Amino acid sequence: LADLNRAQTALMRSEKLASLGKLISEVAHEISNPLMIVSCNAQLAQRPEIGPAESARLLGIIGDECQRAKAILKRLLRFAAPGQRQLRRVDPNAALEAVVALLENQLKWSHIDIRRAYAEQPPAVAVDEHQMQEVFMNLINNAREAMPGGGTLELATAVEGDRLRLDFRDTGGGIPEKDRKSIFEPFFTTKTDGTGLGLSVCYAIVKAHGGEINFESDPNVGTTFTIWLPVAKDDPLPAEP
Ligand code: ADP
Ligand code: MG
Repeated sequence: LADLNRAQTALMRSEKLASLGKLISEVAHEISNPLMIVSCNAQLAQRPEIGPAESARLLGIIGDECQRAKAILKRLLRFAAPGQRQLRRVDPNAALEAVVALLENQLKWSHIDIRRAYAEQPPAVAVDEHQMQEVFMNLINNAREAMPGGGTLELATAVEGDRLRLDFRDTGGGIPEKDRKSIFEPFFTTKTDGTGLGLSVCYAIVKAHGGEINFESDPNVGTTFTIWLPVAKDDPLPAEP
């Protein structure tokens, strides 16, 4: 059994290294695009014939591209070094509500109704609350972005055996067949201002917690992302502070 464990750890490490190599080359590419735009616009802005209005416009582009590169790096750091996980017993409904409270106004402005179908007194899950809230935030933001004309976001929690199931169900346009195998890949995005890192971060965090993440999508109905998380056992995990 110990041998099997060692073999599995080695395998996981080599898979991690392989995906890290892929990630690095993709990051280099993602960061070099905005850098190129910054450098071209900086050169343009130095030309003598450029007036103050045009130069202000070019500086605006430079600022936007710097922000974009910064956002990519920030998300990448979370992906590459998610930090020490602090597992605690967390009430899934309360953790979800904390994120909804942060995003509620944005959802309202986007004409999105929130429906809740929460399990009554669900068991605690053993998770790092901050990382899990990052997952919830990514999924809710994706749902919002999938419903530009408004819609309904349903949040559901349910006990399934020794796991807790969380559903994020939107009434957006769905995920086309051809994109379905790619959405968890880092930098896969169909949005002009997307980073494509949200779902890959969700995947990494949920897997690191021994959970699962999957989705179902129908262009006529919408998309549901589902997470399964292990229910906290009675071992001495610290309770929420
Ligand atoms: P980003 O949101 O920056 O594009 P993500 O990794 O969060 O990156 O998502 C990757 C892609 O998956 C999105 O660009 C979109 O095409 C698709 N996607 C994710 N969530 C949804 C959803 N709820 N409905 C439709 N498409 C989605
Ligand atoms: Mg996203």
